[in-house]
Amino acid sequence: MIRMIFSLLLCAACFWAAPRAEAKLSVVATTPDLAALASAVGGERVSVKALSSPAQDPHWVDAKPSLALELSHAELLLAVGAELELGWLPTLQLGSRNGRVQLGARGFLDCSTLVDLLERPTTRVDRSQGDIHPSGNPHYLLDPRAAERVAVGIGKRLAELDPEGSSLYLERTKAFVTSLRDARARFQKSLEKLKGRPIVAYHRSLAYLAEWTGLVVVDHIESKPGVPPDPRHVAELIALARQKGARTVVQEAFHPTRTSQLVAEKLAGKLLRIPGATNFQGGQSYVAFIEQVLKQLTEGV
Ligand SMILES: [Zn+2]
Repeated sequence: MIRMIFSLLLCAACFWAAPRAEAKLSVVATTPDLAALASAVGGERVSVKALSSPAQDPHWVDAKPSLALELSHAELLLAVGAELELGWLPTLQLGSRNGRVQLGARGFLDCSTLVDLLERPTTRVDRSQGDIHPSGNPHYLLDPRAAERVAVGIGKRLAELDPEGSSLYLERTKAFVTSLRDARARFQKSLEKLKGRPIVAYHRSLAYLAEWTGLVVVDHIESKPGVPPDPRHVAELIALARQKGARTVVQEAFHPTRTSQLVAEKLAGKLLRIPGATNFQGGQSYVAFIEQVLKQLTEGV
């Protein structure tokens, strides 16, 4: 009898809890950075999931059926765009059988449309040459100025999909922009320290970070984005780095370290591994992520 009453109470609890949980707008982001921005802007009105973790290279995510299932319930899909997710996201969109998040639907937001992309090719580049940045550089979320524009764009799209929450989204977007600008003001000293410092990068992913901080990327260990390093290029890179006075190799933690370590040793410098993205699953905010990256750079470069 007691068990029965307990079960009934539990059911009642589920009943009361269910409508509130379902009322949240379901947002799925391809990367933890985008998830963190959506969460900052959407607050309690949205539930946010990231399809990849900071330990994964966002170019190469396994299009697992569990991710397609995640996407099948989504009301808004946020992508970095500029072909970053070309190798896996179209498969998941198709597999999700969710019309709301397909290309061209209002529930799909390609965030690269919100920023000015660097390294847009002036001549036709195709992937057969191995270059995985044929539409320009997609790594813009390492620049908080770009992240601000993305957050504003996400806020607008949330308001469009959920008009009842529009004032809340606007308020939260403003608060986020303020916190990001305050953080940038705090970073000023670090930026002065980094300005003009030469570094070597692994992948062509630090272009926006360099533009924001003033760091100078002498060259990359990959000869082309996505192409593994070859000995001839690496030898040329070491000579150039020595000439330019670069001693630190900077890369996201998910890239291979063998060649980078070798290059750092040849330069009598060191390898600095920065986090690949915001630790959204661990509760980190985008601002805290950028702060962490900047701290590592000022201490290590
Ligand atoms: Zn890339």
